[in-house]
Amino acid sequence: MRALTVAPGVANSARVEDVPEPPAEDGAILVRTRAVGVCGTDRDIVCGRYGWAPPGQSRLVIGHESLGTVEEAPPDSGVSVGDLVVGIVRRPDPVPCPSCAVGEWDMCRNGRYTERGIKERHGFGSQYFRIEPEFVVKIDAALGETGVLLEPASVIAKAWDHTERIGQRARSWYPKTLLVTGAGPVGLLAALMGAQRGLEVHVLDHHEHRAKRELVRRLGGAYHVDTLANLRFKPDVLMECSGAPSVVRDVLGNTAASGIVCLVGVTEPGHDFDVDVGALNRTMVLDNNTVFGTVNANRLHYEMAGGALQKADRNWLEAMITRREPAEHWTRSLQRQPDDIKVIVEFS
Ligand SMILES: [Zn+2]
Repeated sequence: MRALTVAPGVANSARVEDVPEPPAEDGAILVRTRAVGVCGTDRDIVCGRYGWAPPGQSRLVIGHESLGTVEEAPPDSGVSVGDLVVGIVRRPDPVPCPSCAVGEWDMCRNGRYTERGIKERHGFGSQYFRIEPEFVVKIDAALGETGVLLEPASVIAKAWDHTERIGQRARSWYPKTLLVTGAGPVGLLAALMGAQRGLEVHVLDHHEHRAKRELVRRLGGAYHVDTLANLRFKPDVLMECSGAPSVVRDVLGNTAASGIVCLVGVTEPGHDFDVDVGALNRTMVLDNNTVFGTVNANRLHYEMAGGALQKADRNWLEAMITRREPAEHWTRSLQRQPDDIKVIVEFS
């Protein structure tokens, strides 16, 4: 079968090649792939900055944002032939740590987890993949191709779940305003879930993008192309999805009292700034502010994300997918174009 592969650690090693059929040890459920989404992690892997092949192999099948149709499933697996499904990315570490032991592999404490398409396990970017029943998520068939948004949505569902749990430290905390910094697919999904919670939504972008402005408007939100300092309001919840170091610096301490800053975007090390730590600490202590980071998602978050996508306007979700590339030319999907929001690779 055809697969999208890379040699992790080697820049520009991406190609399409024939690989063996998915091995039985990957799981009892056989899925025919419809599409995989492309994100910054994939670009980092293709550039040679990130990613690990399975032990003893030199190449990795890429693709962790999946969507496919079940072709074979045992009777007790919870899915049936024809179901639309998405694969969970992370697998628990082998020890397992206390988090992985209870199914919270997203909170792994020892870093020995594996991830499909990223870390020591082949991904979903092949004509077929196999998966274990406990790591497959069935989604509403009506979502169609927009179901490929489930994996990025699961990361944001976790971010919202944890934000709300932290907020519950005070019985009186009812957030009213949300600011999302960064208007990529993850930022826009954060805005969607904020709107679904009834919050006043603001999205801060670094340059004008008409389609993103329209998507935010359709959520009833405000789209700003500006600096944080110019916004002149302090949100109750601030979700940092840009991963831009200067934006990360600016969001710290920049919420209303009892505010929560949730860091979702990943940054490269090596960015030094002058920061008045005294003023920052003073603000955060006197205002009971919180800053926390979050990554990945467990099964519960995939299910929450499925609910959020099901509730969303289907046309809004369709508008998130701005470009489709055929698998044979998947490397085109890695080159950013000005109109891109979510780019996906389709398998015919
Ligand atoms: Zn673990």
